[in-house]
Amino acid sequence: MISIRRHLHKYPETSYDEFQSAEFIKEKLSELGIESTGGQGGTGVTAYLGNGASGEGCVALRADMDALPIREQTGLGFSSVHEGVMHACGHDGHVAMLLGAAAILKKSFSGPGRVKLIFQPAEEHGNGAAQLVREGVLDGVQAVFGGHIDTHFKTGEITVDEGLICAYADPFQITIKGRGGHAARPHEGSDAVVAAASLVMIIQTLVSREVDPNKSQVITIGSFQAGTVHNVIACEAILKGTVRSTDEVYREKTICGLKRIVQSIETMYDVHAGIVFEQGLPAVINSTRAAEIARAAAWDTTSVDKVISQGYPSLGGEDFAFYQHYVEGCLVRFGAKLTGPSGPAHSPTFDFDENCLKYGAAWLAAAGWRWLNTNGRPVVSESRIIQS
Ligand SMILES: [Zn+2]
Ligand SMILES: [Zn+2]
Repeated sequence: MISIRRHLHKYPETSYDEFQSAEFIKEKLSELGIESTGGQGGTGVTAYLGNGASGEGCVALRADMDALPIREQTGLGFSSVHEGVMHACGHDGHVAMLLGAAAILKKSFSGPGRVKLIFQPAEEHGNGAAQLVREGVLDGVQAVFGGHIDTHFKTGEITVDEGLICAYADPFQITIKGRGGHAARPHEGSDAVVAAASLVMIIQTLVSREVDPNKSQVITIGSFQAGTVHNVIACEAILKGTVRSTDEVYREKTICGLKRIVQSIETMYDVHAGIVFEQGLPAVINSTRAAEIARAAAWDTTSVDKVISQGYPSLGGEDFAFYQHYVEGCLVRFGAKLTGPSGPAHSPTFDFDENCLKYGAAWLAAAGWRWLNTNGRPVVSESRIIQS
């Protein structure tokens, strides 16, 4: 698994461009004697394990496989050789884990039912899972399990939670159009920069004044583009941002509030302003039943005291949510904290403890096996699980 992870890390590919990665995955599956099918969403790979009849149930295990447009600065011996592309979120590890799980299941699983492996493209792009679902990847699947490497937790720890663990994510773009002019004669134009700057500040009052303080929510403007030179009044400003919500009611309220505030800027500053929301991500909501199976699988995998809660919901988005729109499922986090210095996920110095790979592989295999063997029924008792 470590060598698989390092190979993928060295040759990373961004969303929908994972052609070499897909070939590599198919090759590794074939070495294990597992037949696979490629091309889902362009670069996805799926495979089945177990000989069960299709009526016996099917559980899916998912790994995302794409990298990010980031220039690596880790100094690792197996650093990216693809300029400006880096596995900075741990998806190289997720693929290695799922291949590890495939090896375990190939050796020890003979049913009932079938396990479907899903190597999914374009998680970072935000719609790989949605694309696969549209293409029918969940046909016949009853439940889906997956995990994400997380360097906030120690290696060997697995977090399992019921309910919402990753936020709704709604990206948007605001365009403000004013009238250009000479920097020395602002009264002859209408300044898009001033209107946009004011808007950035007013937007921050939405969460602080209109959302229940007990509900986690955030609005970030991550991009502000306007103007070209110091002595010209900018006639256009473009703001890009994202709303992250943990409550559906306040998600809707904030989206409406944003539209209202953008509209009000027009009269305040004599400009034209519009807001467009791109396709967002639903929240990752783990079902109670799937979380119980996931927890039992984690007890199988690591010591009971290391099966913990992630605490507060993450305000991050995860397209695993699209699967959960159709079938129940559970996403967990695999602790992978390094002792040495390394940057956070999505940074050019991100790295994780490769010892987490064995826990991830064992958990995935156990989750699949447990779902099929309990047929999705809740786990009876902790002691029974530990003994078994
Ligand atoms: Zn990521
Ligand atoms: Zn990720």
